[in-house]
Order: sequence, then structure tokens, then C-alpha cells
Amino acid sequence: MARYIFIAGGVMSGIGKGVSTAAIAAILKNCGFRASCIKIDPYLNVDAGTMNPVEHGEVFVTDDGLECDQDIGNYERFLDENMYRHNYMTSGQVYQEVIGRERSLGYGGRCVETVPHIPEEVIRRIELAAKKDKADFVLVEIGGTIGEYQNLIFFEAGRMMKLKSPDKVLFVVVSYLPVPHMIGEMKTKPTQHAVRTLNASGIQPDIIIARSALPLDNPRKRKIASFCNIKEDDIISAPDVKSIYEIPVNFERGKISERILTKFNLPVKKSRLVNWQKLGRKIKSVRKEIRIGIVGKYFSTGRFTLSDSYISVIEAVKHSAWHNGLKPNILWLNAEEYEKDSKKLSELDKLDGVIVPGGFGDRGVEGKMGAIGYARRKKIPYLGLCYGMQLAVIEFARSVAKLRQASSTEISARTAYPVVSTLQEQEKNLSEGKFGASMRLGAYPCEIKSGTASFRAYGEKNIVERHRHRYEFNNDFRDKFEKLGLVVAGINPQRNLVEIIELKDHPFFVGVQFHPELKSKPFKPHPLFNEFIKSARANSARQK
Ligand code: GLN
Repeated sequence: MARYIFIAGGVMSGIGKGVSTAAIAAILKNCGFRASCIKIDPYLNVDAGTMNPVEHGEVFVTDDGLECDQDIGNYERFLDENMYRHNYMTSGQVYQEVIGRERSLGYGGRCVETVPHIPEEVIRRIELAAKKDKADFVLVEIGGTIGEYQNLIFFEAGRMMKLKSPDKVLFVVVSYLPVPHMIGEMKTKPTQHAVRTLNASGIQPDIIIARSALPLDNPRKRKIASFCNIKEDDIISAPDVKSIYEIPVNFERGKISERILTKFNLPVKKSRLVNWQKLGRKIKSVRKEIRIGIVGKYFSTGRFTLSDSYISVIEAVKHSAWHNGLKPNILWLNAEEYEKDSKKLSELDKLDGVIVPGGFGDRGVEGKMGAIGYARRKKIPYLGLCYGMQLAVIEFARSVAKLRQASSTEISARTAYPVVSTLQEQEKNLSEGKFGASMRLGAYPCEIKSGTASFRAYGEKNIVERHRHRYEFNNDFRDKFEKLGLVVAGINPQRNLVEIIELKDHPFFVGVQFHPELKSKPFKPHPLFNEFIKSARANSARQK
């Protein structure tokens, strides 16, 4: 029978609850267990597909086509395993299911109530995931922070599970301990309050992970132990680290696996984390910098700048840079600045490689195309991801094929040259207002043409990559563009859709309709990113 570890966040969001969950799963896997993860998001959206990335961060996509929270990406990267629909749950899904069941008399005429029927459905889903993943341990990350109204039903589900099987359920609180600079001391009070609020839901944490800028010292540890009713050994110090991949080793320093296994009455197994130690050393040892620019638009919210929207792209660049013995230096380039002043494009000269990642809508597209054209002409290695591929096609159409009005129907519905456009089935979705989970989503096969940069990268003909888009390369323009030097390097064999484009006479200019970044792992960097970084390194050497 599976054991369940609920992970909740105290004090504030954004302190690494997702990576903590992923790290604990990785540690348990290292001890020889099968660990699985579930992310619960308390919002009413059925999935993350319809949300704006500034509000939500990156939308991650699984092989089975689920649009979900970026934490699922952390689980995949740390566990080196695929996640699926059953690893993700939102309030929207839970309520939809319960209401649907009620409508078909599934509750046999009873009054259907928030409690217990909603938490019962949550428990059903958690146990189903345990079964599907044949898990020894299921880590259930509850989104949001303790004290929020909307995640109460998930705590209630955890409480009910613990009541039923006390030796099969643990609660971990990942809390934040601020060190306000005007006080100069680490404060435990917010954590005390978070735990007390959790207690009010009938839950006592078994382990507290103390996130802070600094390591936890003994006086603070004693305070948390005493006020939160927990043993000092069960408090794990988790100071800020340079790289998230140091976290498993750090947690083990605090003996987290020993604490978890002991609490479950299981024999303690040593997790050596040799691969994680090695990775940590590698990350610290790389010296030579590689400068990669990401041209995007989802950066600012008020006075703050966020990079969460491109988290998988950032991680993929890092994995491949380390793999190539390089220190990644990622620079944020705001596409809209290039629209205001195209002279600013010359800053790309200082870069070793340029990426235009996925995106939607027309804001910033002219600036992105400006950057793509600059990389094309100046032979700067370029990797276009999804929208970055479509915009490369449009830029090529306008500049090389001289179709000045060329566009995507996403940007200009009545363009004279719709070089990127929708398939018929998408026309229908759009006209009927069906926007949720209706894009081309999840894993699709792609056949690569030999002799191309992509073939060199993958080293094989048949690949499978993840998609999330509504628009496609318009095959009506294929012959014309190919004659002018555009290489169709990959197609979807079933539907003859263009999945990869490249340019002749360029050291590396590759645009992919899919999202390779979603499959890159620290121990398995993505071949396309590896090849891109390699040519960026060659470009950097050339500049010197
Ligand atoms: N907006 C484009 C489309 O829907 C690209 C999407 C993306 O970059 N993920 O096809």
C-alpha cells in the first residue's frame, strides 16, 4: 500500500514548495522506492491552459496533452520520469466531476455537500494516482499557502486520510523565515502562525522545512520546535542555494529520508545521491560563460520582472550549458524595446546565441521578428521554439521571399500571405469559442530529414516531441520557400505538417513547432539544446 506525504506552504508562495516536493521525491527514488507526485492547484480553472503566463508562470505540457502547472516540470526534471493527467488536480476538475456525478444520480438522491463529497473526490484521485504509478510514496503538493480559503478542502482531504490510516500519511510544511535587514535576525513568528493555522484544520506537521536566506541556527530551531510542537530533528534547514539541483543533497544533510522512513516505521535506507553530488560539483566547476539571449515579452508585473514564464527554457539552457562544460549566462531581451528602437538590436552582437520562445498574440511580435532577422543576417545561432519557429517563417517570407504582407492569421486574420495559419479543425474551435484544451497538445511523432542540423543533434530519424499551439506552417508556401533556402527538416508523418525548419548557409538556425525544452532533464539534457549551445560556443570563439 502506498504512503502519502502532503506538502503545504507556510507564510508565502514562491519559496520553492514545488522543488522541495520534487527533491524529496528524488531522494526517496534514490533510496530505491517508487515515488510519484501530484500537484493540486486550488483555482477553479480546469487546467492551466487558459491562463496568462504573467499571472500563472509557464504552462507545462505532458506527453498525454495536459496543460498544467510548471511544478509538474520540476517533478519530471528531478525524478527523470514522465508525469500524466493523474498527477495534476485543480478545484475546477474536482467540482466538475462531483457535479457531473450528481447530475447522473451518482449520489443516489443524497444531498451533495462541499464536505465530505469534495474531499472524498480529492482522495479518490490521489489514491488512483498511487495505483496508476504503482507508487510506494505519493507526494501531494497543495498549491497556495496555509490560511487561504480556497485550499481548505485539500487539507480536509489530507486530514481525512490521516484519520483513516495514521501510519500511512505525513504532513510536511515548507515555511519561510524572513531575515529583515533592519532587524538583522531570522524571525520564526510567521512560521509559528502558519503552523497554528494548520493546527486549526486538525493537522499537525510532522516535518518543517525551514526556507530562508540563511541556514537555520540552534536558537531558532529550538523556538520552532517548541512553538510548533515538533522535534528539533524534524526541522530541516533549507537556506537559499545557487542552483535548485543542490537541494536534494542539502535536504539529505538534514537527514530528511531518515526522518520520513522512521516516521513510516520503515527501515532506514541510505540515499547516497552520488549523481546529485556529481551534478552539484559540475555546476560549481564550470567557468567559461556562454551568453544566451531570450527574446520575450512576459517579463514585467508592476515594478517587478519575472522569468517564471520561461522556466523550462531556462532550465534546458542550463542543462545543456553544463553538459558542454559552460556557465550559462541568460539575458532577458524585451521584444517591445526593439519595436521602439531597432538600433537596440545591435546588443545581440554581444550574445553567443539567441532564443525566441513560445508565445501568443500580436504584442511584441515585430520586435521578435527584428531579432530573428538580425540573427539570420549576422549568423548568430538561433533556436526558435513554437512561436519562435512561426515568426522565423514569417520573417523569412517577408525578407527573403519578399512577401512583405506575410503574417500568421493569429496576428493578422486577413493577411494576403498567411504563411502560418490554422488547420480546419482549429477554425471550428475558434468560431465556436472552444478555447480550453483545444490546441494541438501533447506528444506527436516527427520524422527528421538526414543531413540537417536537427538530424545531427538527435542522431536519429524518428523523434517524439510535445506540442502546444493552434497555428501551423502553411504548406501552400513550402515549395517556394524551399527553393529560396529554407529547409524543411522535420515533418509529422501522419499529417504532413512542418515541424522543423532550418536555414541553409547559417551555422545554426533551427525553428521547431514543438517544445523541446519540456523534455530536457539535468541528467539528460536535450539534444537540440546541446547542439544549439555547441554552435553558440563556436560563435563565441569566433567573436574573439
Ligand atoms: N501562438 C502560436 C500558436 O498558437 C504559438 C504557440 C506557442 O508558442 N506555444 O500556434
